[in-house]
Amino acid sequence: MSVHRPPRRPQLWWPLLIASQLLVVLLWWRLGWAVGLPLLLASHAVCLWGVLAPASRLYGPVLTRLPGEGVWLTIDDGPSDDTRALLDLLDAHDAQATFFLVGERAVARPDLVREIAARGHGIGNHSQTHPQAMFWALGPARMRREILECQRTLTGITGRAPVWFRSVVGHTNPFVHAPLREAGLARVGWNARGFDAVKADVDEVVARIDADLADGAIVLLHEGAKHGHNVAMVEGVLARMQAKGLRAVLPRTG
Ligand SMILES: [Zn+2]
Repeated sequence: MSVHRPPRRPQLWWPLLIASQLLVVLLWWRLGWAVGLPLLLASHAVCLWGVLAPASRLYGPVLTRLPGEGVWLTIDDGPSDDTRALLDLLDAHDAQATFFLVGERAVARPDLVREIAARGHGIGNHSQTHPQAMFWALGPARMRREILECQRTLTGITGRAPVWFRSVVGHTNPFVHAPLREAGLARVGWNARGFDAVKADVDEVVARIDADLADGAIVLLHEGAKHGHNVAMVEGVLARMQAKGLRAVLPRTG
């Protein structure tokens, strides 16, 4: 069975938002501000949770674990100076991963992108410019551009359109899912991460991931972080997988 499910009703949040706010107004009017105001704030908190919580499905579907056996390794933010070392490491462990690439970084190093594909790994869409401070607040036009330009970039380099999308820093606002549907992309989250993009301690990062390393796990990893230890972290995770008898797999899409 395919686990690849692009959003089907990306605009559904819109009538739900209107209905919820009409309900708040109605209750405020009937029962007074002591009920209405907390309800108003609570309804806005839910909308914000839907944006900031990486596994939230408020605005559209997200895959956060795989059915069956195997572990899906996902590596964000490339291509980078780490990419070649990562490819060699994965080969040495006979493992496959999906690289979620940033469009403008791919344009700068198309040879690395082609090599990822040629060596049997997956390539996913991680936005054109990786606007990490602002991604959660992008409006519909800029969001569409971030997603569709990256899609065109990666398709142009490899000849194949990516089918998976990873939100920038895991944030997903109401305008993400319409362009995903347009491009046939499904959003992927994770259920194992070690904060490897910011934490520099290899053992600590690997131990955090190890706690959730089991069949069905989707592991969030990064490349090219400033601390320079991403390759050692992926190596640590591969060693733990070997010790636990876990196989790296890519999900079925068809
Ligand atoms: Zn990223």
